[in-house]
Amino acid sequence: MIKEWLEKIEASSSLEVLENIRIEILGKKGVLTAQFAKMKDVPNEQKKAFAQNLNEQKTKVHEALENKKTLLMAIALNEQLKAEHIDVTKFNSTAKTAAFHPVLDTMDKITTYFQNLNFSVEEGPLVEDDFHNFEALNLPKYHPARDMQDTFYCKDGAVLRTHTSPVQIRTMMSVKPPIRMIAPGNVFRKDFDITHTPMFNQIEGLVVDAEDKISFANLKHVMVEFLQHMFGDVEVRFRPSFFPFTEPSAEVDISCIFCEGKGCRVCSHTGWLEVLGCGIVDENVFKAVGYKDVSGYAFGLGIERFAMLIHKIGDLRSLFDSDIRLLGQFR
Ligand SMILES: [Zn+2]
Repeated sequence: MIKEWLEKIEASSSLEVLENIRIEILGKKGVLTAQFAKMKDVPNEQKKAFAQNLNEQKTKVHEALENKKTLLMAIALNEQLKAEHIDVTKFNSTAKTAAFHPVLDTMDKITTYFQNLNFSVEEGPLVEDDFHNFEALNLPKYHPARDMQDTFYCKDGAVLRTHTSPVQIRTMMSVKPPIRMIAPGNVFRKDFDITHTPMFNQIEGLVVDAEDKISFANLKHVMVEFLQHMFGDVEVRFRPSFFPFTEPSAEVDISCIFCEGKGCRVCSHTGWLEVLGCGIVDENVFKAVGYKDVSGYAFGLGIERFAMLIHKIGDLRSLFDSDIRLLGQFR
């Protein structure tokens, strides 16, 4: 009997089969358990030997079951590991990589360009007071030029900054010249159409130094070099313009990168694309921050405008739609 049991245990192929064998032998209704029940019919003088024999069998069966169980568990674990094995060296061509948003990417390119020219990168608050956003920039109250910017006003008279120029004011009020800085960041205006969104990004630059060190020629040189870095071999022209915080002021065009100056829909058949504004810092701005005997130039541009031109995107609003089909093209 015992030999047969041990063979059966040895031959069992799974933990489930093994458990069934255990119940069959040692369970409440098991064959060996049934033997113990016969004890009461055994004559007294044979009882000891009978019990000893049964206990020996029980121990042997128990040991065999435990050994087999350990073995089968090890096999099961091995199989599980094999089934769940992951080859970390295997290349998954369907894995998706992320990419920078074209606006961030463009901002990064422009920022890096000016950092390489030793410009510092300055930041300021998005909610500004009237002084930093308007007054100090030669835009006194009721000045008609305030209408150039459709401003979001807060209840307490604060504004969502309409340009990054207040960062220039804050920087000038906290450090002494010379200054070479750019201020990238969000700005806000009440506008929404194919070329305007209520929030967009600007980069402004400011250079301040001793009076004899700054001229319009410096500004022109830096702008031409920068635009040719961004757009390749383009022609650059300066048109007289007006900004409250600079005098003289200029708007800067590049020859159309789509038609090479021949005239197309994007450039309204003029052959030119307007890309930035700049000028020599107005005396009143320096007065407002307490600077004396200095001169400076400033420039400002819309990041989205640059991103649209570089990536040939038609509608400004699509840059803010977060449409993965559009963004996926910039991977
Ligand atoms: Zn064109």
